[in-house]
Amino acid sequence: MNTIDYIYRFDPNNPSAKPLPHDADVARRILEDGNRMFSRWMESCRNRTPSDGEPRYVVPCNGLEVGMTRTYGEMPRQSPFAVVVGCSDARVPTEMLFGQGFNDLFVIRVAGNVLGDVCMGSVDFALNALSESVRVVVMLGHSGCGAVTGAVDAYLRPQKFWSRSLSPMLRSLVQRIFVAVREGANGLKESWGPEAREMPGYREALIETAVCINAAQAAFDLRQEVERNGKWEIEVLYGVHNIRTHQVCMPVDPNAVRGDENVRLAQAPTNPSEFHSLAIRMAEILRADRRDTRPEPAV
Ligand SMILES: [Zn+2]
Repeated sequence: MNTIDYIYRFDPNNPSAKPLPHDADVARRILEDGNRMFSRWMESCRNRTPSDGEPRYVVPCNGLEVGMTRTYGEMPRQSPFAVVVGCSDARVPTEMLFGQGFNDLFVIRVAGNVLGDVCMGSVDFALNALSESVRVVVMLGHSGCGAVTGAVDAYLRPQKFWSRSLSPMLRSLVQRIFVAVREGANGLKESWGPEAREMPGYREALIETAVCINAAQAAFDLRQEVERNGKWEIEVLYGVHNIRTHQVCMPVDPNAVRGDENVRLAQAPTNPSEFHSLAIRMAEILRADRRDTRPEPAV
């Protein structure tokens, strides 16, 4: 097997390449385009034929922002264009999957991408101390999230919540996800019918639905925080990273094949009623998936 290159490229003839996006819309497009390129590169690594040559992925780098300052010892100024709150899951490397490098993203990672007080304090810091450069705040969930899976399992079998493997601290994290799980369960019941819980694939569907709603609810919270800080020019977005295709989408079909058109960061909800609409949308997507992959049970 030949080598696969992931390259950070600094061009000394153009040391100031990669200017800050001038508004939130441009910032969103940079993140979406970066993810399209990254997911395309990942697919080419998997599918390439010998004639394709060696797959390469190049991230342009502004040398002045990685420590190559004009005066030795001078500290580069922090100037990220996006704040990203994501899960700690090791399969979701934030900068890589958005095709970004040094000094581009202010990243906060916590299991289940839940917003505790300390996490929100980091967001507040970025909104105020880095307001000159920050254009967007992004809430990023991911498919197959272990924290959401733990919340779903405790919801379906409450005695699991009290298992010794869940410490009090871990329980408090899981509790923050329960509302999203309940919203997801309501959506599945409404879309699939009253027997939804007994249907094949229910647990997996509830996990993926809750992942999306958990991200949406956290984005709703983030939007309120951004507005409380009076940062009206900063947009709040959210998406879910599909760890099978490496694409960030909203809503996400966890079984979709990779396609550039799937990549999308959505605007944060402005009304809690949007959580229910999203739950129904996810229930429909996941029901369609089941029909595609499994024969309908005989009645
Ligand atoms: Zn996770």
